[in-house]
Parts: sequence; structure tokens; C-alpha cells
Amino acid sequence: MHITQGPQFNGKASKRLHAMAKPIGAACNIDCTYCYYLSKQDLLEYKKGCSPRMDDETLETYIRQYIEGQNTPEIIFSWQGGEPTMLGLEYFQKIVALQAKYRPAGIVISNDLQTNGTLLNDEWCEFLSEHQFLVGLSIDGPELLHNTYRTNKAGRGTFRQVMNAVELLHKHNVKFATLTCVNNLTSQNPLEVYRFLRDVVKSPQMQFIPIVEQKTFRTTAPQTWAASDQLKQGDKRLIPGHKDSVVEPWCVSDQAWGNFLIAVFDEWIQKDIGKVFVQYFEASVETWTGRPNPLCTLNELCGKGLAMEPNGDVYSCDHYVYPEYKIGNIHHQKLDEMAYSPAQQNFGFAKSRTLTSQCQSCDYKFACHGECPKNRFIRTKAGEPGLNYLCAGWHKFFAHADKALAYILRATGHPVAHGKFSDEALRQHQVEMSAKKTTVTASFSSKF
Ligand code: SF4
Ligand code: SF4
Repeated sequence: MHITQGPQFNGKASKRLHAMAKPIGAACNIDCTYCYYLSKQDLLEYKKGCSPRMDDETLETYIRQYIEGQNTPEIIFSWQGGEPTMLGLEYFQKIVALQAKYRPAGIVISNDLQTNGTLLNDEWCEFLSEHQFLVGLSIDGPELLHNTYRTNKAGRGTFRQVMNAVELLHKHNVKFATLTCVNNLTSQNPLEVYRFLRDVVKSPQMQFIPIVEQKTFRTTAPQTWAASDQLKQGDKRLIPGHKDSVVEPWCVSDQAWGNFLIAVFDEWIQKDIGKVFVQYFEASVETWTGRPNPLCTLNELCGKGLAMEPNGDVYSCDHYVYPEYKIGNIHHQKLDEMAYSPAQQNFGFAKSRTLTSQCQSCDYKFACHGECPKNRFIRTKAGEPGLNYLCAGWHKFFAHADKALAYILRATGHPVAHGKFSDEALRQHQVEMSAKKTTVTASFSSKF
């Protein structure tokens, strides 16, 4: 569900939705240790009638419905996997031909493609450049860090192939962003990772993704966890690598997540602001001015991006592709009806309705909103279930960045709507100071 109403387009209410299509499902040519999608092959029972390749009829139905379900100047398609380039270039040539067939006059159609980069070649990059795809390239940092978990099926690292993709993307002027998983290892090397992406990859936009996976994630849907199983914030069993840990050993810990963001933020703010784009930091700047966070994970509501499997099954979110969160199939329901359905709206609003009291009274609720519900599997220190596993790290980062963000906004003439150094906090402080001064002056005068 991604509904934008109010503005008009073409004489009618503007209507927008977003879905992440997985035309090859979870199939992938490599085998990253922490991949949350490979296990879907079993969970969604592909073998029992769900082809791992979206057939022509489903593809055309999807493209037609996706376009017909929106009324906006630009329609953005997102293609993900598994590894979508395994479908071959011809498949994507068919995609752009179908988009041209159904594109209403005056509407721009754009495409995003998420890839591990290992199959990209000159031909692919010429196509991506010609059709102005925005490529999301997965790369975890310098060779040793990247190769630890991003391995091929023989267990060998994929770093060389990904760096070849980086060269090709630059050579053909393909728009791209890097996606870097912050895991137990990369989180310990924040500056090595950041400087590598900045100086070697020359990443036009950096996206960092915290890896958080409970040991039960392959079979158990988020938010179906028993409250009694949730551990309190600070419990040692929440630390990745602890002998009784409830999370996978490759996960980032809450503290390490906060420390990673802080180290990268400090370097970015001192040297690179305005030159290097780090998605979380750009989004935080927006939030501090009072605008909503553009990232779903830190926005008040969620459910703004559906996920669709090769057989046309639609789920509430890419992170909720579990039978409990299936909301329909495009062969039986229209995509926009599913996007606007009560089930999807409930899913979206539940994010703010289920916030713990710790979040409700948090100084940084405006910036965090309890982060992604898929990570809300711990208890607050007071024992309330449903707190985010990364809470301590997020809080540490926001508290650290607060003053610098306010300073930058004020220095550039922008409002500072939130935080401990907001315009309102400053005004209050000045009122208090001037009241104190008046009292001191009054008591001083009364003595003479
Ligand atoms: S569940 Fe998480 S990833 Fe999905 S829309 Fe909500 S915040 Fe975003
Ligand atoms: S920092 Fe923690 S307490 Fe504050 S809103 Fe985020 S998850 Fe909730």
C-alpha cells in the first residue's frame, strides 16, 4: 500500500503504489550466508506448482495492472530476486517492450534492478544505461569483508566479479547505488567499509542494511513470535555469537549497529557532506527538518511496498513473504485493490499502533518510530514485548547525531523541527535564560 491522495493528476486524484517484483523468485546464482530469501524456495513450496520464473502471461498481467493501478506522472518498477539477471537480457527487453505497450501518453516509466552484479557484462550495462535503470549493487566492503559471506555455490568469494561490475557500471554511466550489509564483521570495520565505498567503488549512493535474523527466521513469520519467548533488552542471548544466542552469528548487535553508524557519520559530516550520499544520513536530515522519513523502516507507517512472487502471489512486504502475510494473487485480484485492501492498511498502521511505551516516550521517536516491525522481537527493560532488537543502537546514533544535524540545518537556514537542539528547544532555553536574568537583575536592584 502506497497511497498518495490529495494532489491531482490528469484531472483525477493522484494514486500511487509500489511493489517489488521477483520474476525469478528466490533463485540465485550465488549463495550468501545471510540471504533471507533463499529459504523461500522451501517455504513457498515452489516445487508444488510455483514456477521459479515468471511466465509471459503473469509478467504481462503484472505490468498492465501496475500501470493501470496508478495515476501519477512517473511509475517506478522494482525488480528483485533472488538474482533477476539470471533471467537473461531478453527477459528484460521483453519487460521494457511491455511497459512501452501499456504506458499512457505523457507518463514516465522508470525501473530499479537489484543485483549481485556477478552476471553483468557490457551488453547488460548498455541496456541498463539506455533504459536508465537504477541499479542497486550488493557489495559488503573490501575483499576480505565482502568475501566472508558473499560467496558462490562453491563457497568462493565473489569480490572480483562484483568489482568487475563496478567498472562496467561506471564505464557505461549506469545509475547505481551500493547496498552494503552491516553484519558481525563489517560492523567492526566501519571506516574501512565506508572509505572503500567512497574512494574505490566511488559509490554514488550508499545504503547500509543491518543484518538481523532470528534463528527461526526461515520458518517463522515476523510478529507471530510468542511474547513469552522474547528476551529483555540487554540480555546476553541477544548477542550474535553467544552460545545461547537467539540470533544468527552473522548478525550485527544493537551496540555494534549504533557504533557503525556513528563512526561513518562522523567521517561523513567532517569530510563528505554534500559530496557523498549516505541514505540513512540524508533521510535523517529530512526528518530533523520536520518532514517524514522517506525510508519505510524509519517512517511512522509501513506497508508501502508490496512483494510479488513469480506465480503472481502478493505479500504485504518483501520482509513478510510468509503464508500468513499473503494478500492475494494478481490472477484473481487487481494489484491496486490489494494495495488498498483493509488487510494491507492494517499491516501499515500496525507499525505505529503496536509501539511499546518505551518507544512512545522516546526522545527519538520522531526519527525512529520503532524501526522495522520485523526486528521487534525483544522486550523493553520494563518487560513489555515488541521492542526493536536494534533499539539501543538506533538510540545511541540519534543521540550522537542530534546536535550536528541541528547545527548543519541552522547554518544552512533550515528549520530544526526536532531533537534536543530544535528551534523550539532553543527558544525555550532563551526564554528561561532571559527570565533568570530578569530575576537576578530584579533581586540585585532591590538590594540598592
Ligand atoms: S515491515 Fe519493515 S521493510 Fe516492510 S514496509 Fe514495514 S518497515 Fe518497511
Ligand atoms: S530508539 Fe528505541 S525506544 Fe526510541 S523509538 Fe527507536 S526503538 Fe523505540
